[in-house]
Amino acid sequence: MLTMYSYIEMIRKQNPEIRLDIGQPDFPVDVRIIDAAVQALREGKTRYTSGYGIPELRRALAEKHDVDESQVFVTAGGKLPIYATIETCNRAAVIHPGWPAYEEILKIKSKPYSILHTTFEDSFIPSFETLDKNVDLLLTNYPNNPTGTILPRESMKELVDICNDNHITLLADEIYSFLTFDTFTSFQELECENFIYIGSFSKSASMTGFRLGYAISSPERIETLQNIQAHVVTCPVEFAQWAALKALEIEDDLQKQAHVMYAERKRIAEKTLSSVGIEFVPCQGAFYLFPRIPLETQTFCNRLLDKGVSVVPGTFFGDYSYHYRISLVSDRLEEAIHRMQDVLTESESVSSRS
Ligand code: PMP
Repeated sequence: MLTMYSYIEMIRKQNPEIRLDIGQPDFPVDVRIIDAAVQALREGKTRYTSGYGIPELRRALAEKHDVDESQVFVTAGGKLPIYATIETCNRAAVIHPGWPAYEEILKIKSKPYSILHTTFEDSFIPSFETLDKNVDLLLTNYPNNPTGTILPRESMKELVDICNDNHITLLADEIYSFLTFDTFTSFQELECENFIYIGSFSKSASMTGFRLGYAISSPERIETLQNIQAHVVTCPVEFAQWAALKALEIEDDLQKQAHVMYAERKRIAEKTLSSVGIEFVPCQGAFYLFPRIPLETQTFCNRLLDKGVSVVPGTFFGDYSYHYRISLVSDRLEEAIHRMQDVLTESESVSSRS
């Protein structure tokens, strides 16, 4: 079966002119972070570290999130603690549209799961009456990939109450919380009894290839998750952890720069989508838009690829045949959206002729 990952691999080989498919920032890693990595390499920081991460980084993360060090561990990317959490669950729930990795890991681990579907008409905000309460894990991701939406605080409180009443562990994948355009509440601010927070340096510092993330939870849960990481990758890469420590030191600066750049791209993309009559829910955070385009997946993607632009079909994120994920990772968004309009106009003229 074609997954989003095999689709992106296919696009990578085709190498289209404007790539809006991948969720990877297009700007380079800050030179101060590179310098820290190089210095660490030169100093021989090339060895195994504690499975919880180097104490300096662990301490800095604990400080940032105002938790005890025993509640944090450094991970090989944000994905690893998600994988480890799924490994320890019996039955999970995911919200659609959602990052496809959750379900792919659930399938690999043969874990049953249920889906809470949300709609474009409801701006992708879930209504929790229909949430399956017979689960022990709920995976959430706000700001959301692929829709760019943020959950209103009241909905978050409602969800935390449901989780507390039903002994459900809430995993809050907040790796995009560094980039918000509306008021954002972290699940960390709410009193969730069974809680796992996921953070990452991949998107906030453009450090996707460093494979560095972290998780926050109770000390007992951290120990369990760390034990899984220990048998998958042993520990995160040592010199990458020193680079991440530098990224934390300069994070205010990085965050400001990212905000200025993505805010401008969001403005251009949303203005252009509106001007060509393509419907979308405005991006409130993260660097994605998930517009509705009245042309079926295969046809639209192939015709757009012929025009040198790649996006990701909505079907990888759930039952969203007429949606496409656009990553705001290019300065050529206006041009790309005009090419989308060209595909639509050409398809209309073909169907009116036939
Ligand atoms: N969560 C979400 C929602 C993501 O989009 C990604 C990366 N695409 C990750 C987690 C994992 O990121 P990483 O492993 O690079 O930290």
